Amino acid sequence: MTGHNLHMTKSLFIAGGGIAGMATGFAAARAGWDATVFERAAAFSEVGAGVQLGPNVTRILQAWGLGDAFKQVAAFPNGLHARSLTTGEVLATLPIKDATATYGAPYITIYRADLHALLLQAASREGVRVHSDALVQGVHSTPHAVTLEVMQHGQLQSHRSAIAVAADGVWSPLRQHLLNDGLPSFTGHIAYRALVAQSDLPAHLRSQDVSVWMGSQAHVVSYPVRGGEYLNVVCLAEGRLLDDDANHLQALQIWNVQKTEAQTLTELHHALRGACTPLTDLMAACRDWRLWPLCGRPAMQGPHEHVQGRVALVGDAAHPMLPYLAQGAGMAIEDVAELASQLADATDADEPQRLQSFALARWQRNARVQARAVRNGQIFHATGPMRVGRDMGLRLMGARLMDVPWLYGYGRS
Ligand SMILES: Cc1cc2nc3c(=O)[nH]c(=O)nc-3n(C[C@H](O)[C@H](O)[C@H](O)COP(=O)(O)OP(=O)(O)OC[C@H]3O[C@@H](n4cnc5c(N)ncnc54)[C@H](O)[C@@H]3O)c2cc1C
Repeated sequence: MTGHNLHMTKSLFIAGGGIAGMATGFAAARAGWDATVFERAAAFSEVGAGVQLGPNVTRILQAWGLGDAFKQVAAFPNGLHARSLTTGEVLATLPIKDATATYGAPYITIYRADLHALLLQAASREGVRVHSDALVQGVHSTPHAVTLEVMQHGQLQSHRSAIAVAADGVWSPLRQHLLNDGLPSFTGHIAYRALVAQSDLPAHLRSQDVSVWMGSQAHVVSYPVRGGEYLNVVCLAEGRLLDDDANHLQALQIWNVQKTEAQTLTELHHALRGACTPLTDLMAACRDWRLWPLCGRPAMQGPHEHVQGRVALVGDAAHPMLPYLAQGAGMAIEDVAELASQLADATDADEPQRLQSFALARWQRNARVQARAVRNGQIFHATGPMRVGRDMGLRLMGARLMDVPWLYGYGRS
């Protein structure tokens, strides 16, 4: 058995090196823990995906001293426009450039690989060890320690630590081990994602704003990333997976699929029938579409979904959510901030209690965000009279309907 002497170091092992895992390594190390990340992938890679981060999240990144790092790579959009998918009309605008004045931190859009890279660099600077090609296969928690079973370089090794964190994503094998509550299910929603250089677009299609083009049973979101040089374009559509697709997904437990370009374009064309010309032009300018069947779970039911014994679950492992409030990575980062603050001055004796406090502080907020994301999806995809009411409401109420103070103001002192 390999492992760390619990009497000399406060050790914390993390399964999964995505956004949640890398943030956990960084924040735990800052809080005085000896942190190690085990990531099953041999190399970190990301194709054509961006994320929006609201002021509730950038406030945390700034407090962690990462404000300058994200300024180098993020974009700072002026407005978030709700638009009609069929006419292109701007129905309402939330002036997100005002987020710093209103909420004390900016609203940014960032390429997911850039966010991951800055967290990885920050974690490395704090002395976090990151093992790639390290598949966590099991976990055993006792009252005083936790052991991870990790397959590394073809050898199964046991690593004992004071605390473990499951940051292993939507399909979380550790969650299966601890909660045994089944695999996530396909939500009936599919995301098609692409990235296009603004310089490759005609002037009228370039944008430094976030646009949400709302139709019936589908919507498109576009926003700048990589300092504004690229546009991230995502079409979210309700659809059915072919049996083949579903089996593939289940067998591989992935959420990032590439189909032939012809297949993807046919599906997109179908989902966006009736779309206005600027939007169809934008979609036509994008290449290398990637397909993400969205899988999820019901909203969290209680603190037991965040903590089991000496293991904390964070990010998508604990609360996968539809991306319609743009907060999945955000909630992962909020989880990590709370966990690190609970663990900062924990003693050996009160670590389990601190984990419980973390779970109690987080689960209801995560459940609320999960539920609100589902509701947003219903609004974005409304049909018939609901759709007419939606558009009218947005025209009349404007930004007041789009702002979410309970979400963006979280943690503001
Ligand atoms: C279309 C779309 C748009 C989105 N837009 C936004 C947005 O605008 N804003 C936002 O905040 N969020 C957004 N999200 C959500 C966000 O991407 C996720 O919530 C976030 O990436 C979750 O991070 P995570 O670290 O929990 O999981 P992941 O990023 O999935 O990371 C899990 C990691 O664990 C590793 N792993 C898995 N199993 C094991 C194992 N057994 N052993 C070792 N390692 C393992 C995986 O390889 C992976 O690296 C969006 C998601 C989608 C699909």
